[in-house]
Amino acid sequence: MSTDSNNSTPMLQVRGLKKYFPIYKGLFRSLKGTVKAVDDLSFDLHAKETLGIVGESGCGKTTVGRSLLRLIEPTDGEAHFMGKDIFQLGASELRSFRKNMQIIFQDPYSSLNPRMTIGSIIGDALELHGIAQGDDKFEMSKELLVKVGLQASYINRYPHEFSGGQRQRIGIARAVALHPSFVVCDEAVSALDVSVQAQVINLLQDLQDEYDLSYMFIAHDLSVVKHISDRIAVMYLGRIVELSECDELYKKPLHPYTQALLSAIPEPKPRRKKDRIILRGEVPNPINPPKGCHFHPRCPIATAQCKTGAPPVLREVGPGHSVACHLV
Ligand code: SF4
Repeated sequence: MSTDSNNSTPMLQVRGLKKYFPIYKGLFRSLKGTVKAVDDLSFDLHAKETLGIVGESGCGKTTVGRSLLRLIEPTDGEAHFMGKDIFQLGASELRSFRKNMQIIFQDPYSSLNPRMTIGSIIGDALELHGIAQGDDKFEMSKELLVKVGLQASYINRYPHEFSGGQRQRIGIARAVALHPSFVVCDEAVSALDVSVQAQVINLLQDLQDEYDLSYMFIAHDLSVVKHISDRIAVMYLGRIVELSECDELYKKPLHPYTQALLSAIPEPKPRRKKDRIILRGEVPNPINPPKGCHFHPRCPIATAQCKTGAPPVLREVGPGHSVACHLV
């Protein structure tokens, strides 16, 4: 299995990550099933790299990001970051480790406390981690506001006084305030207008250069991750089905699911024809996923083998390009 195309030591190594959610029902809360939201994921992330994670709603991509930051507890696996397994850290060690791992949430409206000023939202993290207090904290918060393209004078305003794009910039300022090395961007631009999306992606790239950040950039749309990712992992029902360098994935998608996602991206030149692959049916119920390859009921090239046997885990089919499919 290939999880990487880069020969240097990865900053983050994830092996066998699983997150299962039990389903309880009835008066006595008896266990009725398990949702395998993330099922045996392995991948690497290098310093200053951006790994895009893409898939439809419910594929488990957000669960991956939150498990890595221990916002939810993983069921199994290892995640080695800066020489330590994040999943084995005790509460106090995790608190100081969190300085290095931050998250930018999808919804800029609910991710900022409406009762706090922008100065407090950014500055409290600086104080909590012993970086700055009092006037220093105030000045550093103002500098961060300017860095993300806002005015220093906004420091005493409240979140409701800003647009969605401005709020996301505040969320970004809060995320980079502690100079982390790893940031999970969880659908960070999905709720924004297309023109604002481009501005926020440009800002994230500028900050990556300035602070040497590594991003895990989660999105449901392959056209969004294209402009920021070095590599892309495509997920379907809790598993990575294709992992590749960004350019290679767009030029030569190999998994039928990736091909369908790419065919759905609107063509900027309307005269150029593109054959759209329409996927049959809905994403299956994750409590009871199809046997064999989870994708077989929707796959346009499924064979009898796909209905009974699970495809191999990610297999390297070219330099840095891995696929999980019987036919590739
Ligand atoms: Fe399609 Fe079979 Fe490949 Fe699954 S294993 S993606 S069903 S061809």
